[in-house]
Amino acid sequence: MLEYWGNIEGLKTELDSYREKADGIYRAMLGSKLYRKLEETSARILTPDAFLLPDELIARVRNLSGEETPVRHMYIERSSLRRSNFGILFSVPEGVAISNGGRIRHSGERDICTTPSFTFTEEAFEISSTYPQRSGFPKYITPFIHEYDHYITYVLQRTPMHAAAAIPIDELEKMGYSSDFISDIYRNVMEDAENKADRGAVLALLLNRLADLSETSAVRMDTIMFRELGFPWEKYAESKLSPSNLRQMYQMFMISDDKATASIFNWTNKMRGTNDFLTNFINSLEALKVHRMSLTEYLSSRE
Ligand SMILES: [Zn+2]
Repeated sequence: MLEYWGNIEGLKTELDSYREKADGIYRAMLGSKLYRKLEETSARILTPDAFLLPDELIARVRNLSGEETPVRHMYIERSSLRRSNFGILFSVPEGVAISNGGRIRHSGERDICTTPSFTFTEEAFEISSTYPQRSGFPKYITPFIHEYDHYITYVLQRTPMHAAAAIPIDELEKMGYSSDFISDIYRNVMEDAENKADRGAVLALLLNRLADLSETSAVRMDTIMFRELGFPWEKYAESKLSPSNLRQMYQMFMISDDKATASIFNWTNKMRGTNDFLTNFINSLEALKVHRMSLTEYLSSRE
């Protein structure tokens, strides 16, 4: 657990001193069944490639696949070296699209292939450690645990929220909205949209909602970890509040740890019933097959 295959020494040292304790906390938080699933899946998919920086990753992909512009989809915020990040590379088959009512249609292949990818840089750790709300927190493992919690949701959710977000991202990209940053995609689409019923706007709102829920889920898990490690978790949680996630955060923090983690791993239940579009989208997600794989496996699956 808490694997790291990169070369930032400060992070390695902090991980070594906290790993055993953090491991026990995760074991209690997840329960033995999910903890085992996380361990088994990580042994298969979390290879050193998962810690390549964006340029290294692109070079590796080109080298292994021989494709000229192979890294078409990157979710989320891969290109910034100034922020720690967890994202996935994904490929959505041609025939997969979202209907006007929100249902996911698929003609033919319905396999979504994904591979995990972390970005950690010394610069990003340096920047986040200067935030006033981070005093009392260790410099390296604080952002690491946040990104790792995103990774845990990706591994343990039946249909990962990251893979669900890949579908509107893929479609928005076909409409000409392309960025490594979900916030940029959202802003650009909304600027162009005549009203909120426009197709682009509907997809961007869906994407934004998924991104907010992803963030809220990771923060809820972070706070359990930070509380158990004895860090000032309330201060941390407060700093993560934003106007768009206020309601979700409130809901997530009003329930017990066990209920919160259960709702994070069964996130689709939470989204059902919000509105018809979202309910149709969620219900049709189950028809897709999401594969989690190592980068090498991912690239060979695309050949
Ligand atoms: Zn996050």
